[in-house]
Amino acid sequence: MAIGNAHGAHIVTIEGINIDGLNAVQQAFAEEGATQCGFCTPGFIMSLTGSCLSDKNPSQDDAIEAMNGNICRCTGYKSIERAAGKIVNQLKGRTNDPVQYAIDNVFVPSYFSGIPNQLAELITHSEKKFIGSHDNKTLGGGTDLYVQQHSEMLREELYFISGNKEYNGIRKEGTTCIIGGAATVTDLASSQIMNKAFHNLKDYIRLISSTPIRNMATVAGNFINASPIGDLTIFFLALDSSIVFENKDQQRQIRLRDLYKGYKQLDKMPDEILREIRFELPSASTVFNFEKVSKRTCLDIASVNSAIFLDLEEDLIRSAHLSAGGVSPIPLYLVRSSEFLTGKRITAQLVNDLLGIAQSEISPISDARGSEAYKRLLLSQLIKAHFITLFPALPAIKFLYTS
Ligand SMILES: Cc1cc2nc3c(=O)[nH]c(=O)nc-3n(C[C@H](O)[C@H](O)[C@H](O)COP(=O)(O)OP(=O)(O)OC[C@H]3O[C@@H](n4cnc5c(N)ncnc54)[C@H](O)[C@@H]3O)c2cc1C
Repeated sequence: MAIGNAHGAHIVTIEGINIDGLNAVQQAFAEEGATQCGFCTPGFIMSLTGSCLSDKNPSQDDAIEAMNGNICRCTGYKSIERAAGKIVNQLKGRTNDPVQYAIDNVFVPSYFSGIPNQLAELITHSEKKFIGSHDNKTLGGGTDLYVQQHSEMLREELYFISGNKEYNGIRKEGTTCIIGGAATVTDLASSQIMNKAFHNLKDYIRLISSTPIRNMATVAGNFINASPIGDLTIFFLALDSSIVFENKDQQRQIRLRDLYKGYKQLDKMPDEILREIRFELPSASTVFNFEKVSKRTCLDIASVNSAIFLDLEEDLIRSAHLSAGGVSPIPLYLVRSSEFLTGKRITAQLVNDLLGIAQSEISPISDARGSEAYKRLLLSQLIKAHFITLFPALPAIKFLYTS
């Protein structure tokens, strides 16, 4: 993580929560035998302690969710779940400010109460310093860049997009949703506009990385990284989204599906910044679904993923957009499949015919995530899964799924 991305934040390491004796989270871990090796335990403790400072009274699921970026290979998770349960019980019925409660109940040391004032002073004095020049390499959360180009990034001059308020936030203009170029996956997951528009949003987001990565990773970074399996890219391709690039004072808008020209080749100049993402919000006549298959359900990259968006008049498809990842050198908008669906009535036969067309549009390769044949099979199954999920009353499609 670039230090500039910590601008405006107070960093607390495991040593920073030391008090006399164990803090409440450490105590719960010790009592439940949840301590593991020295690599994982500090991560679990810090993630859970951090979540205790949130305004929300956590449920057991929330507490576990807060630790979902931490994987332990040494022992098991049951004792950690029990420790989380203890903490959830201790937080029940909190009435005062969560930070003060955490201080009073030995979750964190007393210096935490002074952090907001320290930060306010720091931000007033240093607002401009960490943004950098537009001519530098654009950095979102760095969750791709620092993995792929670790050594080069140590010397890279950067433009910290999250430092520029213009690029933040998710808003609505009429029926159009506009997502800022610095909006993170967590911003997306917690946006009221997005949750109202996509009732299953939380389930989709659960399949994408982990809480700490989502807190940093931007939607724009997912697009520009151009991974053929980028989950958010596949999600927004099916919404037929547009993107607005900015280059100094000039702006241009293109469809997301036109961005990808070849493997990691984009219709983008090096100094263009993705300013915003725009798409039409779902309406009462539209349906949407996202599917992802990976070797592990959570915390894993996709073998194949897919999303679909249909505008319907009863069982007639007025317009359709279908996308698929992991089946081509680029994140794929399935042009012919989408056109094929348009103007047709939904039947099991239609879905069957669609599978053939989708297969003719893809060119998967065999790699660590599966053979070409497996990925072809997966896409067919995911397309069936879209229709089974969206139209559960169609028994013939269910039959197709198991055939
Ligand atoms: C542990 C881990 C798990 C992950 N799991 C998943 C997963 O499940 N699914 C998934 O899809 N991805 C996953 N990723 C990949 C990554 O988190 C996403 O691709 C993320 O959305 C990238 O966003 P970022 O802001 O971190 O990009 P960065 O690393 O900051 O940037 C990526 C690229 O985009 C460019 N860029 C960023 N923002 C802009 C902008 N506004 N304008 C122009 N260029 C820009 C950068 O210059 C760079 O070329 C994972 C990564 C890690 C480390």
